Amino acid sequence: MALSADPHTDFPTDFRGPVLRPGDGDRYDAARALYQGRAVDEGPALIARCDDEDDVATVLRYASARGIPVAVRGGGHGSDGHAMPGGALVVDLSAMKAITVDPDTRVVRAQPGVLLGELDAAAQQHDLAVPAGTVSTTGVAGLTLGGGIGHLMRRYGATVDNLLACEMVTVDGRKVRADEAENPELFWALRGGGGNFGVVTAFEYRAHPVGPDVVAGQLIFPFEQAADVLAKLPAHMATAPRELGLLAAIAPAPALPMLPAEAHGKPVLVLVPVHSGDPAAADEVIEPLAALGRPVANLVTKMPWLRANTMLDAVAPYGKRMNLRGGYLPELSADVIDTLVANIAAAPSSPGAAANVNLWCMGGAISDDAAEDAMAFSREGAAWLWEAVSMWDSPEHDLEHELWATAVDAAVRPHSLANGYTNLTEDLGGDWRRGVHGSDAKYQRLRAVKAAWDRHNLLRFNKNIAPASAE
Ligand SMILES: Cc1cc2nc3c(=O)[nH]c(=O)nc-3n(C[C@H](O)[C@H](O)[C@H](O)COP(=O)(O)OP(=O)(O)OC[C@H]3O[C@@H](n4cnc5c(N)ncnc54)[C@H](O)[C@@H]3O)c2cc1C
Repeated sequence: MALSADPHTDFPTDFRGPVLRPGDGDRYDAARALYQGRAVDEGPALIARCDDEDDVATVLRYASARGIPVAVRGGGHGSDGHAMPGGALVVDLSAMKAITVDPDTRVVRAQPGVLLGELDAAAQQHDLAVPAGTVSTTGVAGLTLGGGIGHLMRRYGATVDNLLACEMVTVDGRKVRADEAENPELFWALRGGGGNFGVVTAFEYRAHPVGPDVVAGQLIFPFEQAADVLAKLPAHMATAPRELGLLAAIAPAPALPMLPAEAHGKPVLVLVPVHSGDPAAADEVIEPLAALGRPVANLVTKMPWLRANTMLDAVAPYGKRMNLRGGYLPELSADVIDTLVANIAAAPSSPGAAANVNLWCMGGAISDDAAEDAMAFSREGAAWLWEAVSMWDSPEHDLEHELWATAVDAAVRPHSLANGYTNLTEDLGGDWRRGVHGSDAKYQRLRAVKAAWDRHNLLRFNKNIAPASAE
């Protein structure tokens, strides 16, 4: 018998959605493209693009019966590229896009192929929003399973704080529900433990009144003022209202007419406030922020929430090669600020490259709405979240970007907490995974849930939690 290069010649014929293999040309290439450009270096063996939860169950039963590990693609934004590993069998959920919004109960239900821009657009038809992330092409699925932070987190908490239930297909193909009453231990783990336990086929969220207008935009300060303005931010934010979300980024200057041409593309400090409360009350919140320095541009204005929550899309181009490192800071100390400023100045500048460091202000609802042990997502002690991001085009520049990311990480990690937000960093290895959810008790609890729902670790293309019996 001739050997076949296709390891899945017996893939179930009752699977209804498209099935794509390396020989399928453009359709296969389009399906395997992810936000992380490095993911295209290797291709998966089979992409099963599911029509519905029955299709998900069909793939999982097939994989389970043969002991084949399974990768899961939601929105395709995971920085590790775990959604399309080389040679893998992929459950692709990107076609499962149903959303329903009940304006009376404010419950929003979304399938796992929904992107944040689609979720926002549906909820805003009723002047509602689900607290989630800041770039509209990000998937609800991976974002929610990791935690979910964004412009509304100080007011309404993380996405997981607003998650009411999940529907999930188990690795052996059963459909289960997880909420506070049904499978509560699984629900505890799904809120922050990532895609370790099964394939989630629907999320139910609590939405909140937001907009339609908010006051948001960018305050741009010259690089020379960055350290001084950042040093003043913690005291300022300590008394800021919860309605104010704030991101501070040291990032390449946009090509704005008010900036001299020679400054375009060079680092500047950008404060990104989003005031989701009464627009009439925004001035007294935004003006003192601007007065922390002498901004060269003040682009803060009243705008629809849908515009505010897509303004960062412009700096998040799809398909670039990227590195992402991050963690939580207990305080924004002078040492951390000096470290970040020094490192951004040393970032690689190959053609098409861009690097930035971001600081997300925590506090408010994200810090006090839920107890640390209430779910797998950890936030204890976090006053700020830092991220170092770099993007570039060509594999020949991989090494210089890897060295930069490693250098930033080595410099900031000693100031960071052991716990962290799994979604806004690449996987940093076994020791990091043991600490990232907080206490050892939480990690052991996650391992027990993993053993209960995925004993053979079929779902291993992720920030992997080893099943309790495996170590
Ligand atoms: C440009 C950019 C901006 C971002 N902005 C934010 C932000 O503002 N706030 C924030 O919190 N995060 C943000 N993130 C991080 C984001 O939350 C994670 O990358 C998240 O994993 C994306 O989910 P996804 O479904 O798009 O990705 P995918 O790559 O499809 O999924 C990531 C992983 O999640 C798991 N997974 C996905 N779907 C399922 C499912 N249905 N069932 C089980 N497991 C599943 C799989 O393990 C998969 O490998 C951003 C990322 C990028 C690249």
